[in-house]
Amino acid sequence: MATIAEKDLRHLLHPFTSIADHQASGPHMFERAEGIHVYDADGNQYIDAMAGLWCSNIGYGRKEMAEAVASQIEKMSYYHSFMAVGNEPAAELGAKLAEVMPGNINRFFYCNSGSEANDSFVKLVRFYNNVRGLPKKKKFIGRVGGYHGVTVAAASLSSLPHLHAHFDVPSEGFIHVRKPHYYHEAEESQSEEEFTASLAGDLEETIAREGADTIAAFIAEPVMGAGGVIPPPKGYFDAIVPILREHDILFIADEVVCGFGRLGTWSGSEYFNMQPDLMTLAKGLTSGYVPMSACGISDEIYEVLHEKSGDSGPFGHGYTYSAHPVSAAAGVKNLEIIERENLVGNAAEVGAYLQAQLAEKVAPHPLVGEHRGIGMIAGIELVKNRETKEPFDLTLGITKRMYKHMLTRGLICRPIMNMLAFSPPLILTKDDVDTIVAKFADALDALAEELDHDGIWQP
Ligand code: PLP
Repeated sequence: MATIAEKDLRHLLHPFTSIADHQASGPHMFERAEGIHVYDADGNQYIDAMAGLWCSNIGYGRKEMAEAVASQIEKMSYYHSFMAVGNEPAAELGAKLAEVMPGNINRFFYCNSGSEANDSFVKLVRFYNNVRGLPKKKKFIGRVGGYHGVTVAAASLSSLPHLHAHFDVPSEGFIHVRKPHYYHEAEESQSEEEFTASLAGDLEETIAREGADTIAAFIAEPVMGAGGVIPPPKGYFDAIVPILREHDILFIADEVVCGFGRLGTWSGSEYFNMQPDLMTLAKGLTSGYVPMSACGISDEIYEVLHEKSGDSGPFGHGYTYSAHPVSAAAGVKNLEIIERENLVGNAAEVGAYLQAQLAEKVAPHPLVGEHRGIGMIAGIELVKNRETKEPFDLTLGITKRMYKHMLTRGLICRPIMNMLAFSPPLILTKDDVDTIVAKFADALDALAEELDHDGIWQP
């Protein structure tokens, strides 16, 4: 009889995994999760300082979530939402989302993942400009380092090397402007404000080169997540958004990571005091208990679609599981928990403590080039040389080595290129922060010793 791990090895292809690595090392099987902890099949306990993939905002294993899902399954396990068919949890969730998302984002179209929601936006924006009589206005601007998912359109909006290599994306009509990362991208003498001005200039030049009449939308994560936890430089969105408005270019805020409390506000847009036209919501929407995502749409866009719908006919797009009642019931209960336990406020308070502890106890380490983050999202970038910012050769797998040192200490942060990401559940306490930071600092010392021993790096 094959073991469970053998069945995985023989029959599964894992996302974002080298097949050779999977076959060589086998899967790391996880079995259960509770609160901020996950447990592997050998019974080892880990603090999940990544909330899975930036998504378990309320933490794992909540009984009332299980009850909400079970009771919806008993009542109505599934029904579709095509042709104006509705269900109670989906409508309740929409009303709640309108309350917590900024300003005029009051309409929601449900999908199942962040990728699907962004893919749906590409179609919705094309549809919108076609019905407005602007058939040329179709290009999308993303940013180098942006991550918006993996469908053909979502990967085209993104700009990370492994998302494009071998997949024949980005498709035509998707362009990317510079990465807003002050630490690496600014010129030596540039202040943060000057760097922001140069990024705004880059956007303006791109619009002028392509022609504003050909550009439909710009997409940005308030804080870049999978591209390496990169908060924008000072004044970034204040500089960018007016340029978009001036050229009738829609602004899509991809809130898949930042939404539902991560920055200590309900959305990243709220944190940066900006008003997007469209908002991508996923992950924290259900805290990952069941899959669900949503496209948030402004009143203005909705009104145009409404007004033109006599001519355009139905919005010919949707998924079998759009507005799935079980997912929506999970979403309603999840938002109730976030609100009742003030997890947004907790993220602000404990998040500030997390950043302060990382700044004090981790950032001074000779292997650390930069500590960055806001609220409950942080990144620690490792460098070979702090003075010159010389990076480690990626083939050395420095952060994968760090991952192993963290695992042996019962901690999970995510290695991304040469940095480690933190995005813990929002239920974190200050004591949890102390434990996480102590484990991380200890793992970093062990890594330094190993690199020194292997002749890769000297303190
Ligand atoms: N957008 C952002 C900002 C993300 O971080 C992700 C996933 O990590 C996505 C979109 C894609 O979401 P999904 O993996 O649910 O398709």
